[in-house]
Amino acid sequence: MSIGHFIDGKRVGGTSERRGDVFDPATGRRTAEVELASTADVDVAVQAAARAARAWRDASLARRSAVLFAFRELVHARRDRLAEVITAEHGKVLADAAGEVQRGLEVIEYACGLPSALRGAFSENVSTEVDSYTIRQPLGVVAVISPFNFPVMVPLWFVPVAVACGNAVVLKPSEKDPSAALLLAEWFAEAGLPDGVLNVVNGDKEAVDALLEHPEVRAVSFVGSTPIARYVYRRATAAGKRVQALGGAKNHMVVLPDADLDLAADAAVNAGFGSAGERCMAISVLVAVEPVADALVERIAARVTGLRTGDGRRGCDMGPLVTAAHEAKVRSYVDAGVAAGAVAVVDGRDVTPDGDPDGFWLGPTLFDRVTPDMSIYTDEIFGPVLSVVRVGSYDEAVELVNASPYGNGTAIFTNDGGAARRYQHEVEVGMVGINVPIPVPMAYHSFGGWKSSLFGDLHAHGEDGVRFFTRGKVVTSRWLDPRHGGVNLGFPTQT
Ligand code: NAD
Repeated sequence: MSIGHFIDGKRVGGTSERRGDVFDPATGRRTAEVELASTADVDVAVQAAARAARAWRDASLARRSAVLFAFRELVHARRDRLAEVITAEHGKVLADAAGEVQRGLEVIEYACGLPSALRGAFSENVSTEVDSYTIRQPLGVVAVISPFNFPVMVPLWFVPVAVACGNAVVLKPSEKDPSAALLLAEWFAEAGLPDGVLNVVNGDKEAVDALLEHPEVRAVSFVGSTPIARYVYRRATAAGKRVQALGGAKNHMVVLPDADLDLAADAAVNAGFGSAGERCMAISVLVAVEPVADALVERIAARVTGLRTGDGRRGCDMGPLVTAAHEAKVRSYVDAGVAAGAVAVVDGRDVTPDGDPDGFWLGPTLFDRVTPDMSIYTDEIFGPVLSVVRVGSYDEAVELVNASPYGNGTAIFTNDGGAARRYQHEVEVGMVGINVPIPVPMAYHSFGGWKSSLFGDLHAHGEDGVRFFTRGKVVTSRWLDPRHGGVNLGFPTQT
């Protein structure tokens, strides 16, 4: 099977001869090839979007909302199918895929109500008979470039908001799991979105570079690893575009001695190993404030040993990694952790999966006595590896978290409200959970990290999303009132 693009309302092939392989990670089998767009293919999509944007910006708010409501109904009715497509190409278990679809649906629902966020602001009588008001207008063509790990949720962080704001979109999904984005585009069209308002171009670096340089592309929303996010931010801003580039993460969960240890252990296991750790909000470091470490590690180990790794369609707890290359990379980190002297309390390299032996398997690994100089601590591994670092005090814990170059998510587990409040104030991270391990903001708040986890100013969806996909225009108007001796400019005099 060959997977192409979706341009101007229909599935099309491109001109490029280059292809990428798409695998079912649970069987290791190549299930499709995906076209890798050329610069010329990207241009066709951007031109279609530019034509569509000129009409879509004039579509009434009521019409845009009607399309979004219809799209929401289609995605909701077909959510199981979407989850199956995610699992087939990404590998995450069906329950995780369904959760991803649910989070995406929430952004669509937020976008259904966007007319209220687009109301602008009005100041009457800023001077005599002078009013001043701000209106928010769409940008034109915007590009969305997404990572492999949330093939539905991440595109939906941006596309519904961009479209509701009156823009046209060119979406470039990850070439590792391209099918879900094409379905979303088809369903959007079925919901009444005019041709060209949402286009999907599959590809790799060549397609990304073409989007970053294209003069018709006004803004870029990117999500992926930190080195590529930094590159996208620099290159696209140099080309004069508005950019939000969300990068990688290394999220810490701090457990204070007074925490509910069973709650903390459950949270650490869910947040560390859900979606096989391939989540930008996964907890990868657990900071145990002594004397809590022994009791906590014991509880986590008991839970991790009970996790079933296998085919995501078989009701397992954890699926395979996305590709053989990624599995090898994560495995090499486990090797490095052992070699550096960390204690592998549970070693995922020995796993016996419930699935095809050719799948890209690696079981959950729990490391204890990890120190900040080890590569398993410093690097984003993006796999099922949870590292426990032991510290002596709250202050030491905060210092450790704030020394990280990343600042995406963090959590603190404690029963002390004062300590939690101090943590939320002191920690240099964009999203903070208090007794909540994965503090992903709801659609009406904005999602985004700090430091090397986000380049740009505005976060995804919520108020920031609306600001990102619109530009403000301030109108100052003066209408002279004839009753006050002004000139009647031709309108009937009010009596
Ligand atoms: P990636 O950076 O490899 O790829 C992301 C996108 O960039 C893909 O569409 C890919 O085709 C493109 N790309 C890859 N290499 C490129 C290059 N050299 N030049 C131009 N474009 C290129 O990321 P990934 O492996 O698909 O996703 C995992 C990463 O994404 C992790 O680092 C994870 O933390 C991060 N992520 C971050 C968030 C967040 O909200 N901060 C959310 C999800 C994922």
